[in-house]
Amino acid sequence: EEINIIKIIEIVKKTLEPMYKSKNIDFYTDIDDFDYEIKGNKDWFYNMILNLCSNAVKYTNDNGFVRIKLHGDREKIVISVKDNGIGIPDEDKEKIFERFYRVDKSRSKAVKGTGLGLAIVKYVVESFDGKIFVKSTLGKGSEFIVVIPNFKYKA
Ligand code: ATP
Ligand code: MG
Repeated sequence: EEINIIKIIEIVKKTLEPMYKSKNIDFYTDIDDFDYEIKGNKDWFYNMILNLCSNAVKYTNDNGFVRIKLHGDREKIVISVKDNGIGIPDEDKEKIFERFYRVDKSRSKAVKGTGLGLAIVKYVVESFDGKIFVKSTLGKGSEFIVVIPNFKYKA
């Protein structure tokens, strides 16, 4: 099944519109035009993007921003979801990908969740032979970067 990433990003944006509008979050995309090809489960891919973006909106205060960036080259496809939200403490950066892990209950109780989102995201990224990285500064914001091989030019 071929995956149209731009289309999926558009659907995710539409899906999250009520959520980010109610917080007056500037949710924007920065999409490069390049040739790519990925094959895999389209619904899983949609879920991965939705999870990353809904986290970005959930863990960002009113009037913040969320940016989805898509770029890549002959080797790889890079999808970045960046926010200027509450950020993640250094000691939690590895653990957030574990099932049911949520950063400190006092800050998380204001926001509902099961702690499964990122475990699913990681599983899906790996199903595409990809990797996920997180950059985050507490109180400043976070960026989740997904890197997936571009099969377009692979023999
Ligand atoms: P669920 O996704 O299952 O509804 P959740 O959002 O709590 O629940 P994850 O998506 O797995 O679970 O995220 C794990 C934890 O990582 C979150 O509870 C939150 O503390 C932290 N986190 C995830 N994304 C961000 C982000 N963009 N900014 C700040 N903290 C984040
Ligand atoms: Mg989540």
